[in-house]
Amino acid sequence: MSADLSGSPRPVIVGSGLTGLAISHSLSMASIPHVLIGGPPDARPRLGESLNLEGSLLLDEFCGEFGRFIGPKEAGVLYMGDHVLRCDFDIARKLASRAYFRLLGTAAIPAFFHIDRLGLDAAMYERASASPWCQMIDAAVERVAVDPIAARVEALDLSDGTRVTPSYVFDATNHRRTVAKALGLEVETVGAPQRVAYTHYHPSPHDRSSASRSPCDWTTNLLRLYRETDGVDAMAWYIPLPDYISVGVSVDEDTTELSDEDLLESVRAAYASRGLTYRSRYPVPAPVMSLHHRYFAHHRAYGANWMLAGGTYASVWWLAGAGVGTSFAAARMATKLLADPLGAGRTYQDYLADLLPIHATFDWFVYSRLEEATPEALSRQSDRFVRTNVSRLAHAARIDPRPVPRAAGALMGWLVRNEIIMGGYCRVLSAARSKQTETMFGPMGASDSVQEDEATVTCLAEVIAGRRPLTDADHLLDRRVVAHLDGFNARGRPAWQSWVEMLRRRAGPEGLDLVDLRTYPLPDGRVVMTGSWRSGGRVSEEVSATYRLVGGRIVEIWTSRSNYEHTLGQRTRSSLRMLPTLAGVGMASRLRRRSSPAG
Ligand SMILES: Cc1cc2nc3c(=O)[nH]c(=O)nc-3n(C[C@H](O)[C@H](O)[C@H](O)COP(=O)(O)OP(=O)(O)OC[C@H]3O[C@@H](n4cnc5c(N)ncnc54)[C@H](O)[C@@H]3O)c2cc1C
Repeated sequence: MSADLSGSPRPVIVGSGLTGLAISHSLSMASIPHVLIGGPPDARPRLGESLNLEGSLLLDEFCGEFGRFIGPKEAGVLYMGDHVLRCDFDIARKLASRAYFRLLGTAAIPAFFHIDRLGLDAAMYERASASPWCQMIDAAVERVAVDPIAARVEALDLSDGTRVTPSYVFDATNHRRTVAKALGLEVETVGAPQRVAYTHYHPSPHDRSSASRSPCDWTTNLLRLYRETDGVDAMAWYIPLPDYISVGVSVDEDTTELSDEDLLESVRAAYASRGLTYRSRYPVPAPVMSLHHRYFAHHRAYGANWMLAGGTYASVWWLAGAGVGTSFAAARMATKLLADPLGAGRTYQDYLADLLPIHATFDWFVYSRLEEATPEALSRQSDRFVRTNVSRLAHAARIDPRPVPRAAGALMGWLVRNEIIMGGYCRVLSAARSKQTETMFGPMGASDSVQEDEATVTCLAEVIAGRRPLTDADHLLDRRVVAHLDGFNARGRPAWQSWVEMLRRRAGPEGLDLVDLRTYPLPDGRVVMTGSWRSGGRVSEEVSATYRLVGGRIVEIWTSRSNYEHTLGQRTRSSLRMLPTLAGVGMASRLRRRSSPAG
């Protein structure tokens, strides 16, 4: 729904990401007609899922009705070398902090939050579409006309050919900085350019019970990878969301040749070596996303009729979890900025600029050497970022119009600056790497490595079912895997791949699917997989195979002729006789593929 908003110029929001949508909500709540330029969100994994204090405190104001996309984050945990740092966020449990928050004019919250951005952004977009105060234009701003003398935005030319004359512009285009660039605003790059790879992992659609929550699923779990122990210097995240998990990794650009997929595999292995496993519970990956990113900060956040919203103004280390908080801060100030662009603009800029020192506090965690990760250093460095966060909260209270929060903010700022409070807030635990997760969270479930093995077998079943490419078997099967089919033995990965190719050919154009998949471990550590074939509308009797794994790869398979009668019928025996030949053909075709110029 949208009202007829033709007539005099009105405020325009450029960018319909979370920032633009939160600003739009703020204007709609104040019954201010406005224009939102940008398309609907897509379903690809997105960044900005773990919130800091500010984001968590403001979440309710902008997204309170969308609780189903929000999960608690009780603590932040960082695995670093032989130690694990844990900062608890249960601020509402402590009487003193409850009282403090009340003085600061805000309610203490029981936990910080994780947010499912895919669900939340879509719901916020729908809400904006339904607002009678919001006119949505599904287009991109292609050109921004500015008056360079007055430093004002005059007009926006859109990809659909229309021209919009704004009374005020909120630039919510994040790192694309559409309006900021047109205004020629000064911007500084902060730190080294980063390469980021990230994705989501979902539970198996065939067995959602496998996604049972582990004790680590109420915390943001960060892990510092070291070249010496993990093969690459990097910082990774594991963020549990209500229905799936988010995993990603950031490295200095050009420091590794690893592909995005291999980087994420290093992350999986690094967490697993600390006892934190997730692929068994969440075996189905979303597309892997890739980003080349620079952190930056503008000198100005506001002007005569424009402002840079949240991440458009500045972007600091993702470890701070600060991006979404700054989006909400911009949305909170939106109506004040319209009423008093320069006065409110300065307040807004001061508040956001307060965030910038936090970037440097995270450099130590990202760049220090393995031997520098001592308990004392971890404690000292964590005190730094806790203090930076709390003093931002104090600063926010100091700009509150009410006298009590202002006074409390000033006092708190002084106490924090002088290191009188907030020392030793986070705990450091030391343990052998393989025991770190258990030491931190308690038992994760008795059979984590078996669960990982089950996940590998499930992935292989998805290769057989054609839901994953046949080349994925390269990571799942040992090169010399042995397949036992009744009396026949076939050796090597190429034989297995040729066998699957042959099965799929025989199934014909209807294709071949493997459904109702289940896995379970045997007492000797092997994994059994059961399921049924489905092709041409027919579903077979249950079939089953057994797998032995070493170091996460399948080295031996036991299967039987009866498993293939549904597909091969009476030809099963003759097809099995072809196995040695298939092995040879598979090997030859792989060699051909490898030596071809296309690689
Ligand atoms: C590696 C990494 C991890 C992060 N992790 C966290 C975290 O855990 N917690 C946190 O709070 N923050 C995190 N952040 C920051 C967070 O991702 C961003 O602050 C947040 O997503 C910004 O949302 P947004 O709506 O401003 O930007 P976006 O989601 O990028 O939306 C911008 C919108 O503007 C649109 N747009 C761009 N140009 C134009 C144009 N010319 N015309 C019209 N529309 C346009 C885009 O299409 C897009 O829809 C992380 C950032 C990085 C790099």
